[in-house]
Amino acid sequence: MIKEIKVIKHNGKQYIPDLRNVKLRAPFRGRPEISTAKVDEQALADICPLGAISVNPVSLDMGKCAFCGECSFAFPNKIKFTQDYKTSSNIRENLIVKEGDTNAISFCKDKIRNEVRKTFGKSLKLRQVSAGGDNSCETELGAAGNANFDMGRYGIEFTASPRHADGIVVTGPITENMAEPLRIAYDAIPEPKIFVLCGVDAISGGLFADSKAINRSILKDIKVDLFIPGNPSHPLTIINGILDLTRKFMK
Ligand code: SF4
Repeated sequence: MIKEIKVIKHNGKQYIPDLRNVKLRAPFRGRPEISTAKVDEQALADICPLGAISVNPVSLDMGKCAFCGECSFAFPNKIKFTQDYKTSSNIRENLIVKEGDTNAISFCKDKIRNEVRKTFGKSLKLRQVSAGGDNSCETELGAAGNANFDMGRYGIEFTASPRHADGIVVTGPITENMAEPLRIAYDAIPEPKIFVLCGVDAISGGLFADSKAINRSILKDIKVDLFIPGNPSHPLTIINGILDLTRKFMK
């Protein structure tokens, strides 16, 4: 017994006590900032393999960005990535960072359905569907529930069946073969339910956006409640995004 207590004391706390105020360090890349410095904008946009950068004025769409850092390496005076991991939003347009923006990514509270906070404010069970994912976001979703991040402390957990779930978290670009299974899983969840897109592939199709092998038609008739950027998304981005969506008073 004494030995076990010594081991616990030696190991210290395994969990992160305050998931809302963790300080991450570089090279983690979170919310980008774009300065007003004059550069060859087209050359900057051409660097991005995912078409995440628009010009005149310059903006960067985190829903398309793989956070590879190439643009900031080539134009360090124009684009830098902060370590701000709170980049999720319930509004797709809020993921687009414009020149001169230094504000945190915001949620539009008015657009959150009443039943979401009323029903899922203390407990939320999610079903994860990998719709052609590469196992990166899936791994981070798993990490969100590990001993360090311990998402379960907020009553947020993954279930094995959509029938026991309150919502779906989609990863991957939604391939043709996974379009129907995703629809079946979504339909199997009882109302009210939420629909979450996790990672650049799910949000925009990512590198596969123009591929004939994907079928994103489901997004035409389902309202997305939460967009979680990243490639893959960081567990802190995932957890804070879900908390901002479902919890009313958490700072
Ligand atoms: S960090 Fe994002 S915006 Fe910049 S080049 Fe990579 S994918 Fe494109």
